[in-house]
Amino acid sequence: MSLWLNGIGVSRGVAIGRAQRLHGTDLEIPERTLQVGDIEHEITRFYGAQRRARDELRAVREQIPPGTPGDIAAFIDTHLLMMDDRSIVDTTIGYIRSAQLNAEAALKKTRDAMVAIFDQMDDPYLRTRKDDVGHVVDRIQRVLMKQAQPTAALEGAPKFDIAEPTVIVSDDITPADIILLSQQKVVAFITEFGGPLSHTAILARSLGIPAIVGLRDARKWLRDGETVIVDGEQGHALAAPDAEALTFFKTKQAKLAQDRATLQLLRDKPAISKDGVKIRLLANIESPDDAIHAAELGAEGVGLYRTEFLYMNRKDLPSEEEQFEAYAKVVSAVKGPLTIRTLDLGADKQVDSGARLGPTPNNPALGLRAIRLCLKEPELFRTQVRALLRASRFGEMKIMLPMISSVAEYRQAHAFMAATRIELEREGYKLAPDVPVGAMIEVPAAALASPMLARECQFFSIGTNDLIQYTLAIDRVDDEVNYLYDPLHPAVLQLIQRTIESGVRAGIAVTMCGEMAGDVRYTRLLLGLGLTEFSMHPANVLEIKRAVLDADVKSLQAQVLRLLASADIEEQQALIAAL
Ligand code: PEP
Ligand code: MG
Repeated sequence: MSLWLNGIGVSRGVAIGRAQRLHGTDLEIPERTLQVGDIEHEITRFYGAQRRARDELRAVREQIPPGTPGDIAAFIDTHLLMMDDRSIVDTTIGYIRSAQLNAEAALKKTRDAMVAIFDQMDDPYLRTRKDDVGHVVDRIQRVLMKQAQPTAALEGAPKFDIAEPTVIVSDDITPADIILLSQQKVVAFITEFGGPLSHTAILARSLGIPAIVGLRDARKWLRDGETVIVDGEQGHALAAPDAEALTFFKTKQAKLAQDRATLQLLRDKPAISKDGVKIRLLANIESPDDAIHAAELGAEGVGLYRTEFLYMNRKDLPSEEEQFEAYAKVVSAVKGPLTIRTLDLGADKQVDSGARLGPTPNNPALGLRAIRLCLKEPELFRTQVRALLRASRFGEMKIMLPMISSVAEYRQAHAFMAATRIELEREGYKLAPDVPVGAMIEVPAAALASPMLARECQFFSIGTNDLIQYTLAIDRVDDEVNYLYDPLHPAVLQLIQRTIESGVRAGIAVTMCGEMAGDVRYTRLLLGLGLTEFSMHPANVLEIKRAVLDADVKSLQAQVLRLLASADIEEQQALIAAL
């Protein structure tokens, strides 16, 4: 009999395959009391397991295929760093010595203690870190218990016949396993835990593999070897489908594949609307390698290069030279314009090297993040600005400041950059004569003050991820309030419209680089609001281009004017739906 199951669809696409459950992280941990004479041997055994787990993980990192988005390697790097983390290693050895516990039990005690601390903090970002601790500890634990890693089991054991299209069903999947599994015939992932921002979700999207997360008790309902259909957009899984359902989903799958092929034909077509409005479609990238990938997917340039990734997964801060090399590489690689964002650390973007920049406050999203942190730590900012300006002569670079909330703050940052330029010129460096500087509009205050800011900035870029978070007072990484996160809220639309209008009046470019820009459901609305530059995940460029080619911007603008003027929310919603 067929069985429908529902979770959260986090990576689009339809997949059909045989279910394969992975054993979960719920290992049975043996506990023994050691003789005093055995303690040193046990410590050596623990170190051996830790080394072996690290080597296995390094091997996984080396298997990441070229062209894989940068965030994938970053996840593995985080785990590699954690493998050596003193709080895991020293605490475990402490338990082996003081409590005379075997390594497995001592490691479990360490994990429980760390998880308890994360639970108390109750910060959504740290909840993800808790998962990281779990994954790292589990990997060492399995070596100690001589249990195969899930993926190691896949390689050898006959019951994991990965030659067939397989749907992996698990409680949670580590980034390392996702990478290894994605190189086998895995066609979809289903996990029992996690939300749209979980590792599984992010990685599956990057790899283009359909995925459903948060499907409670999936391993209980699905049996190994049975056929499962996964609809990664709707979040539905259908076990043991009948012939009719199979035909339906196979047709849907074929349509999607055909759609992808048709989209490819648009790659070299200019993004011009039916009534002749030229729209610029740019990419958001996180590493110089992403730039090449973005151009292949039809992006005309880069509207957001997030530089935080240079600072992540390491214990020290990147030097001026290292940053200079990265920026020079990216600016040379990008054909077309490139907007580099200065450091946006804090809140949802934490780094190990930034730990010494202060304790985690109660409200990190409202605290010392982004430009605020840079202005508070001039040396940190100076190093980055020097590296950026030095790299500016290799291409068409613009610099963008995140989280600007007032004209005074923008002026302060701008003056700092001007002084740094003078300093570099005195030292004899050759710099591009003009490096446009702009502000991200992602705080409601900046959107409201946009007419004033537009007189000072050379461009705006609307960061809807934060603008929505701050306008609606919804933590963007808190699963509990996700349902309130609404890009179509009239207050959000008013702020976007005001920002675009301020930019147009002042004659400066306005880009949008938040997720909203890459979501085809909003393209017609944004065109109607007067947006002409969209920056997004490169995978979305062609879909947005198709919507642009299909649009009549003038008539959309007239319709959007009407919907903004309406005081009735239901009418507004109807008008949006009719666009
Ligand atoms: C945004 O806030 O919309 C944005 C693009 O920046 P990030 O998601 O990196 O905060
Ligand atoms: Mg932001």
